[in-house]
Amino acid sequence: MTLSNGRRYLAIPGPTVVPDRVLAAMHRGSPDIYAGELIAMAEGVLADLRRAAATRAAVAIYVGNGHGAWEAAIANMFSRGDRALVAVTGAFGAGWANAAEGMGVAVERIDFGLRRPADPAAIAAALGADTDRKIRAVLVTHVDTATAVRNDLAAVRAAIDVAGHPALLAVDAVASLGCEALRMDDWGIDVLVAASQKGLMCPPGIGLLWLSDRARTAARDADLRTPYWEFESRADPAEFWHRFGGTPPTHHLYGLREALTMLLHEEGLEAAWARHAVLARAVWAAFDAWGRGGDIALNIAAPGDRSHAVTAARIGGGGAARLRAWCEAVAGVTLGVGIGMVEPDDPARDDFLRVAHMGHVNAHMTLGTLAVMEAGMRALDIPHGPGALDAAAEVVAGAG
Ligand SMILES: *Cc1c(COP(=O)(O)O)cnc(C)c1O
Repeated sequence: MTLSNGRRYLAIPGPTVVPDRVLAAMHRGSPDIYAGELIAMAEGVLADLRRAAATRAAVAIYVGNGHGAWEAAIANMFSRGDRALVAVTGAFGAGWANAAEGMGVAVERIDFGLRRPADPAAIAAALGADTDRKIRAVLVTHVDTATAVRNDLAAVRAAIDVAGHPALLAVDAVASLGCEALRMDDWGIDVLVAASQKGLMCPPGIGLLWLSDRARTAARDADLRTPYWEFESRADPAEFWHRFGGTPPTHHLYGLREALTMLLHEEGLEAAWARHAVLARAVWAAFDAWGRGGDIALNIAAPGDRSHAVTAARIGGGGAARLRAWCEAVAGVTLGVGIGMVEPDDPARDDFLRVAHMGHVNAHMTLGTLAVMEAGMRALDIPHGPGALDAAAEVVAGAG
């Protein structure tokens, strides 16, 4: 007998569940890329991508993933030898810093550790110390998917303004776009990156870059630009296919069209943010209960600093790895591995896992995941406190 037959659920923070409607929209022959419906459809997708980020800024679509979008942002902000100030709050912030360094940018990292958000005062202090104004941009990860911390972007903007520094504010929203409140224009974000396979509910394969007018002007002298990553010809193309630096990602565009219709025109962006918040609170309530009777804890202590899209947690004694294996083999749910919490050869890496509640996820998926985790803890004799499922159900009941 097996209890894992039935629809499997990949509860990792990307790639996320692709809705059947998105898959169906992609299931078609290749369209003409020089004329016909694809052109108007792509323009509509770009308009909706601006809506999804609450901005009037121009946006470009790259064939690539989040790492590609990182490079797109770097190429359009910096010249060789320019400085970047990077707020590191987990493995993804560290990764963006490494990408910038690898491209020839002089990177100054402020490491805030793995358990708390970036401190805007430290950013203001670093900018204040940059008296000759060498720092071109401050790079911040909105949600660091490794630690599940959420950074306060409006506060970072205020810190830059308080320092009176001209640096651009560049934000990685790969894990947050479509999942939690993100207001590019209101928060004074100049450069925003995202990708298709998280809150946007599509397969991996598209990287996205938004540039404010200020960032677009600054990009004209960025000497790290190359023909492929350069933004302007994509944002203001002489020919339709220049938008994509070559052949458009045709099928991804159909998928994205459907996903944006679901997110913006059917559910509504703010309703999607609210759904993610409730599911996150249900997961936190379960972990709080489990932690009252075992070596189990959420990674981020303050609820206001936690992502609504992904939860990172510790289950001591290697419990996280054993629980992940059980949930996948016995119950058909795949949980996320911990990333960057300890050195790769440290056995304590088996103590970390992540639960995604990101994208096309509803209450039964999240409550089902928590119930499976509870069953796994019982089966594996992992000590845990009682009442987790009651607490999670209470959150959902209170919100419905
Ligand atoms: C997933 C993720 C990335 C990397 O995206 P890839 O598509 O895997 O290259 C970057 N930043 C954040 C915050 C992410 O969650």
